[in-house]
Amino acid sequence: MHDVANEEIVISYDLLDEEDDLCDVYISISDNDGVTHGREPMATGDINNDIAPQVGLEITIPDGVFFGSNTKSIQLCAKDDSSYDIGEMVALVDSNSLRSQLEFFQGIRHRNTGAVHLEAIIDSIGNAFENAHLEWKNLPFSFGNYEAKNVIGLKRGWIDSNHLLVGGHFDTVDDSPGADDNGSAIVGMLEALRVLNQFNFRKSIKFIGFDLEEEGLRGSIDYTGNHLHQDERLDGYFNFEMIGYFSNRVNSQTLPVGFEVLFPNQTAQITSDSFRGNFITVVGNDQNSLTLQHNFEKFGAQYVPELKIIGLTAPGTGALTPDLLRSDHASFWLSGQPAIMISDGANFRNPNYHSEHDVLDSLNFSFMSNVVKATIATIAEMAEPFHGSCDIAVIEKMTSTESLSNSKLEIYPNPIKDEFTIELKMEGAKIDKLIVFDLLGRVVERKNNLKNSKFSVSTTEWPSGHYFLQVFVNEEVINHKLTKE
Ligand SMILES: [Zn+2]
Repeated sequence: MHDVANEEIVISYDLLDEEDDLCDVYISISDNDGVTHGREPMATGDINNDIAPQVGLEITIPDGVFFGSNTKSIQLCAKDDSSYDIGEMVALVDSNSLRSQLEFFQGIRHRNTGAVHLEAIIDSIGNAFENAHLEWKNLPFSFGNYEAKNVIGLKRGWIDSNHLLVGGHFDTVDDSPGADDNGSAIVGMLEALRVLNQFNFRKSIKFIGFDLEEEGLRGSIDYTGNHLHQDERLDGYFNFEMIGYFSNRVNSQTLPVGFEVLFPNQTAQITSDSFRGNFITVVGNDQNSLTLQHNFEKFGAQYVPELKIIGLTAPGTGALTPDLLRSDHASFWLSGQPAIMISDGANFRNPNYHSEHDVLDSLNFSFMSNVVKATIATIAEMAEPFHGSCDIAVIEKMTSTESLSNSKLEIYPNPIKDEFTIELKMEGAKIDKLIVFDLLGRVVERKNNLKNSKFSVSTTEWPSGHYFLQVFVNEEVINHKLTKE
């Protein structure tokens, strides 16, 4: 509610807690069209620590906070002191759900030879995001005559300036049903969503399906080049690249040429197990993805001890190890973002790679479940679960009324220096009141009962920067942005 007389926005809310514990309540406001929200220092009332659950609580914010160029999004979050057991989250992964989803996903998903199925799969990812109440969208980009699209969904956290991203590519080569490559990734991502979405986290979690990986990582190149907002920090991209093929047969695992030179310990480990393809590989780099890789190894071992994990660290961003760059995580590495590839080893294990035989019956769903479990455990540990919830409200842009356009108000000079003059060019009208706010919503100047049409304001005490000016004329408000040099 906008209380114009008191120059305040009043937010009313009801706080409920199962255990009736005291809660922490936080309010944060977005200055970038809802991309991220920052804690609002000017808020007062039923906020911060030890708020007792009840109905009809109120938070008050000076309305100057909301004047400016954009519609503002407000996020209100509440949490109590209890937390979740990540082991219980991991236990929710269901191999039957992976299998039944993959029955639908398998089939050629290529723009020329499988266009109908490809479109259906893209729609089904969007529908899954919609049903999970994510904030989601398609991110289109062109590739020749084909209108490609990535699909992204956001599960917003309490601190949404940081996020984790999980997903993989959904397209296939032109003659393979792509059950392992990379249907397994998409059903794994959707299962991670189903489980993680039952809880709340401090950080945001995003879910993505990439198009056109098989054409040279086109989808992830477009995403990393054009869709990472400067105010957001990506704490890590978990790139599933074939997570369903498993074999306990001797010599079912081969290694790229020269692998033993760069990775002698891992080679020894695989050799001592007679080259069985019974592990998942996690690939990081030593530039900025080592923590992420080690987290996956550590939390995987802690929560899913039955899953054998072999970690590989590419030097730098992987220029020396081209076989470790063959999926969408490479686009993140090259744009300076932390990422890991989680892979069953593709053609170094799966004989059906890029062929018509890459079908569901060749895959091992308890292995796939374990990979998804280790990923969920790592994401949950990094995103930090909390017991509580958040809500978002949007405050429409506060601007001048139509009867009083800004053109009737002259302010000069602009940018302002040690003083500025304000002049109202309306026959017989007078300025009643004037307020200036800084960017934090603090009042830096207030003049009441002016009843003039022209006057000057000294600004010698103001630090340089941006300000919001509110001018009241006949009980209507004109807003202006000011800049002091
Ligand atoms: Zn692939």
